[in-house]
Amino acid sequence: MIMTKIIKRGIRCSCGRKVVFFRKYEGSYLCRSCFLESIEKKFKRTVRKYKMIKSGDKIAVALSGGKDSSAVLYLMNKIIKPRKDIELIAIIIDEGSGKARKDSIKLGKRLCKKIGVEYHLFTFKDELGMGMKKKAREIEKEDSKIKEHCTFCGVGRRYILNKKARELGATKLCMGHNLDDEAQAVLLNYIRGDLYRAARMGPVTDWSMRKEKGKRFVPRIKPLREIPERETAIFSILMGFDLCWDKCPYAGGIRFDAKDFVNDLEYKYPGIKFTILETFDKLLPHIRDFSDKREGSIVFCGECGEPGSNKVCKTCELWR
Ligand code: SF4
Ligand code: ZN
Repeated sequence: MIMTKIIKRGIRCSCGRKVVFFRKYEGSYLCRSCFLESIEKKFKRTVRKYKMIKSGDKIAVALSGGKDSSAVLYLMNKIIKPRKDIELIAIIIDEGSGKARKDSIKLGKRLCKKIGVEYHLFTFKDELGMGMKKKAREIEKEDSKIKEHCTFCGVGRRYILNKKARELGATKLCMGHNLDDEAQAVLLNYIRGDLYRAARMGPVTDWSMRKEKGKRFVPRIKPLREIPERETAIFSILMGFDLCWDKCPYAGGIRFDAKDFVNDLEYKYPGIKFTILETFDKLLPHIRDFSDKREGSIVFCGECGEPGSNKVCKTCELWR
């Protein structure tokens, strides 16, 4: 609809070319090439602004094969390739949640081969004893109405990513989280009153600088956090990445309600996702101070030895 109006009015990109995207919160009309350039610029600016990479780093990108992680891997590779002092690898996790996931993993591996990035694949089955399909049956047996499969899946995935990145000698774990993911997470942590988890958000999460025990957490970086989800999707399409758009059969729960809520707000008040994140960033130092003061905010799990916030980590509690 909006594109039809643009064509009818004869609106052009500032460079004179045909418009492919209208960036509502900026009021700018962009052609393919200016759009792609703007995303690359934003990505580089975020990496520089938060000093996300440095000489000697080994960056592990968490690659799902979806639009965000494919975009972050491609862009990271583009800036790292000319440098000899930084290494880039990808970590792929197979949650065992069905065909859509299998297809995405296949495409993720293909992208790695195409751009020459080494990848490492780990499965829930090997690392946690079972895949999501089996876990879902267990969860549903206990309560058929439960819609929080993503909680189990997310906890397991974060655990494997951190453990494997550390074992592979990675100095940074690069996530494909976009602006929408971050705005939803801000809201969710607020709703749940989970200040400890909120303290672990932000563009760079480096626990090793804050606590001795935090050294077992590989610092995380999120170079796409200031790019809306819609734009990472359009970027991936325009770049011609092979992607699987099928939905995970277990997707659902409060995170998706938060997503709808934030999208409704954005529709009425363009730019509000940025405001949510900017406000959170202002509060983050205070939330971190509060979390640091909390008794034993990082402890090693008595079952598996991995770092967490309780005597038994969330993964052991939910999976073992
Ligand atoms: Fe896991 Fe939920 Fe993502 Fe499916 S939608 S892969 S269950 S986090
Ligand atoms: Zn544990």
